[in-house]
Amino acid sequence: MKKTFDLIVLGAGSGGLAAAKRAASHGASVAIVEGDLVGGTCVIRGCVPKKLLVCGSSISESILYAPSYGFDFKKLKINSNILLENVRKEVLRLNELHENFLLKANVDLVKGWGEFKDPNCIVVKDRKNGEVLDELHGEKILIAVGGRAKRPNIEGASLGWVSDDMFLLKRFPRKITIVGAGYIACEFACILQGLGVEVTHIVRGERILKGFDLELSLALTEAMKNKGIKLIFGDNVSSIKGEKDSLIINTILGDNFDSNGLLFATGREPFLEGLRLELAGVQNKENKIKVDQENKTNVSNIFAIGDVTNRVNLTPVAIDEGRAFADKLYGNVNRNVNYNLIPCAVFSQPEIASVGINEEQAIHSFGKNNIKVYKSIFRPLSKSIPKRGAKCILKLIVSKNNDKVLGCHMLGENASEIIQMASISIMLGAKKIDFDNTMALHPTIAEEFVTMR
Ligand SMILES: Cc1cc2nc3c(=O)[nH]c(=O)nc-3n(C[C@H](O)[C@H](O)[C@H](O)COP(=O)(O)OP(=O)(O)OC[C@H]3O[C@@H](n4cnc5c(N)ncnc54)[C@H](O)[C@@H]3O)c2cc1C
Repeated sequence: MKKTFDLIVLGAGSGGLAAAKRAASHGASVAIVEGDLVGGTCVIRGCVPKKLLVCGSSISESILYAPSYGFDFKKLKINSNILLENVRKEVLRLNELHENFLLKANVDLVKGWGEFKDPNCIVVKDRKNGEVLDELHGEKILIAVGGRAKRPNIEGASLGWVSDDMFLLKRFPRKITIVGAGYIACEFACILQGLGVEVTHIVRGERILKGFDLELSLALTEAMKNKGIKLIFGDNVSSIKGEKDSLIINTILGDNFDSNGLLFATGREPFLEGLRLELAGVQNKENKIKVDQENKTNVSNIFAIGDVTNRVNLTPVAIDEGRAFADKLYGNVNRNVNYNLIPCAVFSQPEIASVGINEEQAIHSFGKNNIKVYKSIFRPLSKSIPKRGAKCILKLIVSKNNDKVLGCHMLGENASEIIQMASISIMLGAKKIDFDNTMALHPTIAEEFVTMR
């Protein structure tokens, strides 16, 4: 195999794959180095397997409401081993698909863990035995090695799982403790509750989902509690004792209880381990690689994108950073990633999704008197016969100054799908009057966004 390339990409995850294929499409010779399965966090141990588990878990809600629609189920059993096995099969299918995409794009895939020898040379090793598998030379090098889950420094922390481990389990435990306030913690709490697991969810602070609209996060807290998730605020795990599936969890406030597993969803950090950045002179600040607007590090031929830069840690952002990098360097297309108006979702049950600023941020930036909040809270049609289940909340944050919609937020069925489409109008600078002038599509949940008064 050829050993000298225009571009060497470290990491075949969302950002790395996008950058490698785009650079090759512009005619560059490209190698991509991957130590694990091609696909990265999103495809192998993140967004995709998680969403598949959400799909499985949410069936339980349909079953819950089914008797109101006349269905009669006698005996129900959830075999989480079947679900987990099928999710893994799908992940492997996607892994193969991504390897084929690389082949078709004329990108050389080099399997093994890359580390710098100097600013233009990458040594590829087998990390299990330290064997050198390859040595590659690149005019430019792109670091796209992503992030890893953090594990707290407490007694017995190694007895707990991080999100990667959840996809590798043979079956889900009977009882689980989840620690964390972010979207991964909330999503897993709902997934597991839906699959019949008894969930205790510990949150160090006073609320979940900081950064999302407060009203929506409080409504999700209520919905999670009503589903049977035991939420504990203002406490944290201080130590874990026992063994693998029989743990004793001790908390800072002195509580202790047993659990068959514990998931730490307490944040992620860039994965710089073993890269030997010092040999290339690449500086990292606060454990992340610092880059300029063009994704360039302090070394002129070395670039970084995606979670390793710890900017906005989402798949579509990593992909766009990868493409913008390749377009600029090899396609003569001068564009930067637009970090404004990034839509985001929490695949909890019910879902939350948002684009633009939330009510608290709008008050902070413009003052309470300069914004208007339009809101609709209602029970969706699908829950009108069962007469239970979380209500939907739809919110528009509008500038009084120019009528522009500053933010669009939703909790409820298909929130992520609805907000993805609403993002287009917000990105185009839609005003409230444009929403009002849009004909409703009836009967839907989303029609409330165009009928709010
Ligand atoms: C549980 C979970 C759920 C998520 N859900 C969502 C979601 O719903 N929506 C969303 O947008 N985002 C989600 N994310 C975030 C998303 O997965 C990441 O933002 C995205 O994958 C980042 O892409 P990346 O290219 O920076 O890194 P990654 O996708 O992490 O890819 C990095 C790759 O580099 C490889 N690598 C690391 N070091 C080396 C080395 N030295 N040599 C060779 N290879 C190396 C790794 O093995 C990995 O394959 C989720 C993340 C998690 C953990």
